[in-house]
Amino acid sequence: MEAPCAPDSLPDPHSRPPRGRIAAVLPASPAYRFAALVIALGVGVLALLIERGSFAPVAASPWQAVLLMSLAVSAESISLKSPRQHDDTRVSPGSLVALIALLMYGTGACVVTFAGGVFAWGVVSRQPLVKVGFNTSQYALAAAAAGAVLGALSGVPHPGLPIHPGDLPAIAAASLAFLLVNDVSAMIVSGLAMGVPVWVQLRRNLALILLIDGILVGFAPVAVVAVHFSGATVPLLALPFAAIYYSARQADLRGHESTHDALTGLANRTLFRARVEQAIERARHSGARVGVLALDLDNFKDFNDTLGHAEADQLLSGVAERMRSVAGSHDVVARLGSDDFGIMIAEAEGVARLNELALCIRALLDEPFVIAGLRLGVSASVGISCTPDHGSDADVLIRHADVAMHRAKVRRTGVDVYDAGTDPYSPERLVLAAELREGITRGELVLHYQPKLSVGTGEVVGVEALVRWRHPQRGLVPPGEFIELAERTDVIGALTMNVLRMALGQVASWRKVGISLPVAVNLPAQILLDRDLPADVASLLARFGLTPDSLVLEITEGSLIHDPHRSAQILDALAGMGVRIAIDDFGTGYSSLAWLKRFPVDEIKVDRSFVTDLTEDESDAAIVRSTIELGRSLGVSVVAEGVETADVLERLAEYGCDVVQGYLVSRPVPAAQLVTWLRARDERSEVGGRRSETPAPTEL
Ligand code: C2E
Ligand code: CA
Ligand code: CA
Repeated sequence: MEAPCAPDSLPDPHSRPPRGRIAAVLPASPAYRFAALVIALGVGVLALLIERGSFAPVAASPWQAVLLMSLAVSAESISLKSPRQHDDTRVSPGSLVALIALLMYGTGACVVTFAGGVFAWGVVSRQPLVKVGFNTSQYALAAAAAGAVLGALSGVPHPGLPIHPGDLPAIAAASLAFLLVNDVSAMIVSGLAMGVPVWVQLRRNLALILLIDGILVGFAPVAVVAVHFSGATVPLLALPFAAIYYSARQADLRGHESTHDALTGLANRTLFRARVEQAIERARHSGARVGVLALDLDNFKDFNDTLGHAEADQLLSGVAERMRSVAGSHDVVARLGSDDFGIMIAEAEGVARLNELALCIRALLDEPFVIAGLRLGVSASVGISCTPDHGSDADVLIRHADVAMHRAKVRRTGVDVYDAGTDPYSPERLVLAAELREGITRGELVLHYQPKLSVGTGEVVGVEALVRWRHPQRGLVPPGEFIELAERTDVIGALTMNVLRMALGQVASWRKVGISLPVAVNLPAQILLDRDLPADVASLLARFGLTPDSLVLEITEGSLIHDPHRSAQILDALAGMGVRIAIDDFGTGYSSLAWLKRFPVDEIKVDRSFVTDLTEDESDAAIVRSTIELGRSLGVSVVAEGVETADVLERLAEYGCDVVQGYLVSRPVPAAQLVTWLRARDERSEVGGRRSETPAPTEL
């Protein structure tokens, strides 16, 4: 059994501190102190053996020693991951070679073979010095213990045939001593390095590892007899080992496949979860904090559709590579889904540092990738969670990072830290969702209406219905606080149908008092996949005796992405009935131009983020102007949202914008207040002979 600290449980003091955080374990850790103790003991035992002349037989036939050491090095090099382990514990046939050396040539040969072999292998495979020293000493101690037991209980190796049948109990006892010293010290150092209590580590792993190593070592007397019988039997002996090795290697490979992503070679969700769990357990003892970042590429589906799968895969591999470059040697980067990645920071310094790391990753991905001759920057949304504030269980921590990532995506903030207050699945939010469901049936939703003004004529050409929730305790709750929640639960269907019914009911009531205005209703993504929507809309229009042009449905570009084919069928049906379709928040999504061609669009609403500061920001101005020109050439009406000042209105008029909406004209107000406002405008325009903007009524 090779020490589980090789190659990775002992931290490497020479490794460069990972970018953005400190190195994981300082050399003063208990694992290092234990390693130092083992090294000191190893040196002491070696001195004792030299003094006793145990190496004399080896010195007498150095070629034999070289042969045995080469065998031991080869055995180390074909070590396999031990089964059922998610750490780096490995099993190698090195102990078998060592036991053969012990039985044939005595303690000195066993130490030279085993400890010398692992020393040579450590140097060849460039392991850190402390690890090589520990492993060499540990193996020397195990070999010396086995030699001492064997010497006390038997005369092995005898002259001639080195072992006799009567020696078997002594050989068994020596093997047990060998395995106990070797495996127990290995378990102790790995437990200390991982911060897991030693007894937990021993209880969990010792029996299985003793069993596997015991089976290997049990073959030693048979090998000794065979070698003594004839050197020619040695290759025959290797045959069953080759067969076992082959099948174990296959199992190892399958094990690797089942825990890694084939495309990027990163850990998959299963391994990621296991690693987070381990890190949390370790942190429980060390007091460290574990951070999880969940990262999702923005608009990856479009990359896939536009570039093709092979190129998109290339992009994913590139993303994986860059993410790996920011992770420290104790951190884990994983691919959790098609364009979902996770990073576990084993020793997080806190949320602020995780936030910096997230920004650093976003900046790295922003550097163009060259794929199929194109330079492509990738934007990503990152969610952050960290123990103990956001959970102390792997599943919870990963889920919370994911929730934060979705929030970052929805709010387009790039990075977001988990917040139980906004988590749609947190207990408080689930209570709120239940209250919302009840509130809808109790009639607690109210609509406010915001007028849309024609720039050319100054006339109000329609209104947008904006929902609010009159909560019995919280008062009037704005949509920003419950729409996302409704969308994440199944409440959104009922909410939208209620809004549609109330808005069309209002249009019908206004008709009765001589106000004829179409109403715009916001349609969330999920509803655009509902095949019953056109029939439901038709029956509502019929119920209120309205023509389809009384209704505008506002959809966002993002809502078309989920199933463009189905959304197109539903929109075609609605447009076929005569309902008007507007693209809301235009310019903030992706593929805007493609959607315009593919879907029956009557109106574009330029997002207010481009409009409000139009007069101060030249790029905003350029975006708005070109959108207006685009609308004109496609024959689509352009509405500018978020118009707050007369300067902006003036500029929009210059650009030829069709319609404006914003606080300059009016805030969203209750239906009755809108009527008062409309009447006041009419009277003033009759008196003044020309229309002018009235001060915005304040929202109730
Ligand atoms: P939206 O569809 O983009 O609606 C326009 C939002 O901009 C409204 O916020 C409105 O009050 C605000 N606004 C209007 N003029 C100005 C302005 O000049 N300056 C600024 N800064 N803001 C202005 P509100 O009512 O809070 O609604 C926020 C969002 O909630 C809406 O954005 C829409 O996405 C969603 N929402 C509102 N009502 C509904 C609804 O009935 N169903 C669904 N699914 N979503 C809704
Ligand atoms: Ca809207
Ligand atoms: Ca909008």
